[in-house]
Amino acid sequence: MNKILEEVGPSDTIAITGHERPDGDCIGACMGLYLYLLKALPDASVDLYLEKPAPAFANVPRIDEIKTACDADLCYDVCIVVDSAADRIGGARKYFDTAKKTINIDHHISNASGCGKINYINPKASSASELVYELMDEDRIDVQTARMIYMGIAHDTGVFSYSNTTPHTMEIAAKLISYGFDFSGLLNETLYEKTYLQTQILGRALLESFRFLDGKCIVSIMDQKTMNFYQAGPKDLEGIVSQLRTIKGVECAIFLYQTGQQEYKASLRSNKKVDVAAVASYFGGGGHVRAAGCTMRGTCYDCINNLALHIEKQLKETEKQ
Ligand code: AMP
Ligand code: MN
Ligand code: MN
Repeated sequence: MNKILEEVGPSDTIAITGHERPDGDCIGACMGLYLYLLKALPDASVDLYLEKPAPAFANVPRIDEIKTACDADLCYDVCIVVDSAADRIGGARKYFDTAKKTINIDHHISNASGCGKINYINPKASSASELVYELMDEDRIDVQTARMIYMGIAHDTGVFSYSNTTPHTMEIAAKLISYGFDFSGLLNETLYEKTYLQTQILGRALLESFRFLDGKCIVSIMDQKTMNFYQAGPKDLEGIVSQLRTIKGVECAIFLYQTGQQEYKASLRSNKKVDVAAVASYFGGGGHVRAAGCTMRGTCYDCINNLALHIEKQLKETEKQ
């Protein structure tokens, strides 16, 4: 794919969108691209559609320019889907379906072929933000764009600690911090800081977790009743599964939270041996080799049993090698 400014016209109408329940990478990549296009194309009309970001992002500059409702019946010249395939973009799907040109920028292995007319997909990239950066002309990036791209990369790499971090990732991050924004404060606010409520729920989820498959697998389940008790939503549950993954001896961590009668959202994380993208894809979800998710039907025990079968099979295969 060419640089993004060669793919969109100077006075195009452009919609940008990303996945439901947007995470730091999705928000950073979309906001970075949005600010970049607004500045580079003063005659274009650019709209960014996302679900309302978690409160941790409330103080990010210009975050309130995100459109959370998709009620206008507009037909855009270009629709750009970032950090996702078209099946997880919620209400913005209609803009994707009617746009004259579609572009997909993603790093999910479960979306290897891309959903756009034009695709920029690299499952080896740390983040969608890294890919968005590669499509920009360096001399047009300003501090506001740099801040958003940096935030996205830092969120999806666990602040440069996960195995998706490459020398190229670090080189980009080095260039970005040279723009001179407060990256330490940005990560503290959007990533590390937790509310008291989030910390209490994390404690509860850890207490109620249990291990199986000789301690190689750990699971914690949050039912609707408990979420109601704490008045917690999905945004308050982020980070639980990552914490479970860090426990010694654990190869695969599972966190399930109830989304309906006999319906659970599963988050999966792995250390070295399990390809959780393959497990989640089997159940209609997707993601990356070390971090993936899916929505499952049945009781929570049905969900765990079904996931455990696949995980056990993979563990046995790697142990044979
Ligand atoms: P989560 O466990 O929701 O934090 O998701 C982990 C990773 O898998 C993220 O990169 C998600 O974007 C991706 N993911 C989660 N659910 C799905 C899904 N249903 N389809 C495709 N990718 C997913
Ligand atoms: Mn994401
Ligand atoms: Mn991502």
